[in-house]
Amino acid sequence: MSKVLIIGCGGVANVAIRKCCQCDDLFTDICIASRTKSKCDALKADLEGKTKTRITTAQVNADDASQVAALIREYQPDLVMNIALPYQDLAIMDACLECGVNYLDTANYEPEDLSDPAWRANYEKRCKEEGFSAYFDYSYQWAYKEKFEKAGLTALLGTGFDPGVTQAYCAYAQKHLFDQIDTIDILDCNGGDHGYPFATNFNPEVNLREVSAPGSYWEDGHWVEIPAMSIKREYDFDQVGQKDMYLLHHEEIESLAKNIPGVKRIRFFMTFGQSYLTHMKCLENVGMLSTEPVEFEGHKIVPIQFLKALLPDPATLGPRTVGKTNIGCIFTGKKDGQEKKAYIYNICDHQECYKEVGSQAISYTTGVPAMVGAMMLLTGKWSKPGVYTVEEFDPDPYMDALNQWGLPWQIDENPALVD
Ligand code: NDP
Repeated sequence: MSKVLIIGCGGVANVAIRKCCQCDDLFTDICIASRTKSKCDALKADLEGKTKTRITTAQVNADDASQVAALIREYQPDLVMNIALPYQDLAIMDACLECGVNYLDTANYEPEDLSDPAWRANYEKRCKEEGFSAYFDYSYQWAYKEKFEKAGLTALLGTGFDPGVTQAYCAYAQKHLFDQIDTIDILDCNGGDHGYPFATNFNPEVNLREVSAPGSYWEDGHWVEIPAMSIKREYDFDQVGQKDMYLLHHEEIESLAKNIPGVKRIRFFMTFGQSYLTHMKCLENVGMLSTEPVEFEGHKIVPIQFLKALLPDPATLGPRTVGKTNIGCIFTGKKDGQEKKAYIYNICDHQECYKEVGSQAISYTTGVPAMVGAMMLLTGKWSKPGVYTVEEFDPDPYMDALNQWGLPWQIDENPALVD
């Protein structure tokens, strides 16, 4: 029996909520709260009669910690699941601390307004000291560690697929497969086709910010940064086939570099088709990816937000997306003195996801681990005060729950390596 407040009602939240409602013995009460309440009401209406979970809805602007805190005080949840946007992470964490509730999210903090001078100064200092220039990093949320410890509360960061499941794979490899992990290559392959010349599979603004930024990887104790999309590899993915993939910066590299002892190199690759890259480059060249407001006929417009309004809503891609995803981690290292390698991965079929929960596989592969992370906290399987990423907990119950709730994984003990 548990009461959960879920903030956000977009593509990922829709899946997480539907999955929680499949497990209605544990998720007995859910409040869906978001900026646009009509979306929460529509989902509640759709779930009526299909689950025992008691669902209520609320309107909240989660940029405002006091609004979130008021809602928490009114609803009294055991856990707050933040499945809104990374911009709201800190405000929701503040509200959880104020009200004494556990917290989880699926993506680490980045500010919406990149021109804020206080944030900018901090950002520029970090770029110089750390050597990577992504707009997001863990420092803002790790700074809450002591406060959560003192309050006896747990904050679980980034329980989506990547970050999230990929870190559970790392913890599993560390616990069961290797004495020493030397290298980790995280591969995110989406072999799906939605039939549009250009669309993003999750929030377009967050996605395009991430993909158009310089890439970086961790090697021998420091970051190596490269121009965006300048390292390309081909890989033959099980059940998807040959794909081009590009090295990106990704948030879990930062936590894995701290938490996997002795790891020498961590890289992240994502597959992209030529049409996606050509459109993105063109949009970038004409300034449509900019986050700086421009004056247009008496209105202030943020180009990337305007672009979001033009692009297909990722939540609507479900019916038209066919194909599979293959996402996982290739490890090299040693076991019992011998060299060893392994690829732990999941394959997910877009149309199967659509049949089950009405969405494509990218929202599915993120929404299921959000629900599984909530399960870990609500059942007490994962419980320690502080702020943690997924690899800092025992991977076994999480990996079992992935198998049970729709993201079964497998291990290839002889994978092709990425050069
Ligand atoms: P969507 O844009 O589809 O949904 C975001 C939701 O948050 C919408 O319901 C939106 O409301 C709501 N929201 C936005 N701002 C506020 C606010 N200020 N107050 C209250 N609600 C707000 O995003 P996705 O579902 O695609 O992504 C959700 C999260 O998942 C993101 O953080 C994304 O980065 C993360 N993600 C993580 C992945 C992983 O593997 N770890 C992979 C993919 C995504 P409205 O309807 O009004 O816009």
